[in-house]
Amino acid sequence: MENIESTGGPAATPAGRFLAGRKVLVTGAASGIGRACATAFAEAGAHVYVVDLAEEAAKAVAEEIGGTAHVVDLSDAEAVDALPDDADVVVNNAGLQYVAPIQDFPVERFVLIQRVMVEAPFRIVRRTLPHMYERGWGRIVNISSVHGLRASAFKSAYVTAKHALEGFSKVAALEGAPHGVTSNCINPGYVRTPLVENQIAGQAAAHGISADEVVERIMLDRTAIKRLIEPEEVARAALFLCGPHTGFITGASLPLDGGWTAR
Ligand code: NAD
Repeated sequence: MENIESTGGPAATPAGRFLAGRKVLVTGAASGIGRACATAFAEAGAHVYVVDLAEEAAKAVAEEIGGTAHVVDLSDAEAVDALPDDADVVVNNAGLQYVAPIQDFPVERFVLIQRVMVEAPFRIVRRTLPHMYERGWGRIVNISSVHGLRASAFKSAYVTAKHALEGFSKVAALEGAPHGVTSNCINPGYVRTPLVENQIAGQAAAHGISADEVVERIMLDRTAIKRLIEPEEVARAALFLCGPHTGFITGASLPLDGGWTAR
């Protein structure tokens, strides 16, 4: 581990396990993209803090990858502030969706989404930066969305939260730069996860069409590559941003959107 301290990088670890000796905190790690990230980071040698509301699933993931489960509701500020503050990598991933026109949007749902998807990342990064600064190395990966760059009707809370996360990520990049800390966003289009599977089922019922038609006609309407992206592909991008060759990438937003934002 001395090599990590002295170089601020993972120089002498075996290829592929370049995060050996690092601690990685992943929120929403019990499912979907977060779970894929937790697995990929563990495979790269890191010890992973598996943070999620879903107790059983979080514990199962932690056990599977040799990490530590932290069962926390990220809308509970006190609980968030009790999470470990010694991660070398933070992956802000937990999120939730709610779809309604603005005039009908429940205020408490809007506030909850900002708490989980904006305030919690701020609180976690705020508490972890001193550790990263002390070591002269850190990586913040924010799982944003194509909705951090573009809007869709009826997703006011989600689009607001993701745009806020984009702004926060850039500020963290500026402040972290002199300390060896980078901060970036990843912006996936529709990913094959429970969050999306639920939307497919809901939209199919609402429009009276099949699940396949929802994916083709509604979800993939704006993407050039006509398929959903897999959680593992997002996890690989997160890992790439923490790898040995990407230390100059900071304040960036990396679209994994099959060409959606190319239009
Ligand atoms: P998912 O529903 O599969 O997983 C989300 C996880 O977050 C769940 O395990 C859930 O328990 C956890 N979580 C939710 N609220 C929480 C809270 N209050 N406290 C603690 N944990 C909480 O979702 P996913 O599709 O893997 O999404 C992960 C992230 O990726 C989200 O930020 C989402 O906005 C983003 N994203 C998803 C897609 C997609 O198409 N699935 C696209 C772009 C961005």
